[in-house]
Amino acid sequence: PLRSSANVDTIKEKTLAIIKPDGVNGNYVDVIKKTILGSSFSITQEMQLQLNVNTVKSFYAEHASKSFFSGLVQYMTSGPVVIMVLEKENAIADWRALIGPTDANIAKVTHPKSVRAFCGLDLQRNCVHGSDSPQSAAREISFFFEKSSSAIVSQHDEL
Ligand code: UDP
Repeated sequence: PLRSSANVDTIKEKTLAIIKPDGVNGNYVDVIKKTILGSSFSITQEMQLQLNVNTVKSFYAEHASKSFFSGLVQYMTSGPVVIMVLEKENAIADWRALIGPTDANIAKVTHPKSVRAFCGLDLQRNCVHGSDSPQSAAREISFFFEKSSSAIVSQHDEL
């Protein structure tokens, strides 16, 4: 049978994106969503939340022993965030590439077209999150979007 390239199945992948408090507060939500949609991702889920301390501590549990942890918790609870599930082929790596390096000051130099370069402020306030592996993506998506998950996203969080 003939197969045109349009018929070849692509394997879609999902990743978790967060527009962090500095991004929401700086009015970057619309431009970031435009960048996402303009880069062939679809946004399959989306919610705006005010995270509480326990939710952030649980989400970033792998960093609990780091010196920057308390600052990170304070930052991530400082205002509302927008949490999205992004879907496309190779979504995890492609979203990480689009956001650029962790330190926004480095991103401005090495990846000037990245999201963190245009909306991030520094190493902590870097405007966006992206899952770093298939394991993280699965955990993070269920953390926020599965009703049965053990995540501490209380009804009080949702705006
Ligand atoms: N972070 C920080 N100081 C550091 C490293 C990281 O405040 O020295 C913050 C920053 O907001 C980062 C988050 O902690 O996005 C999680 O760190 P990770 O190393 O997982 O970076 P990411 O995967 O977000 O690029």
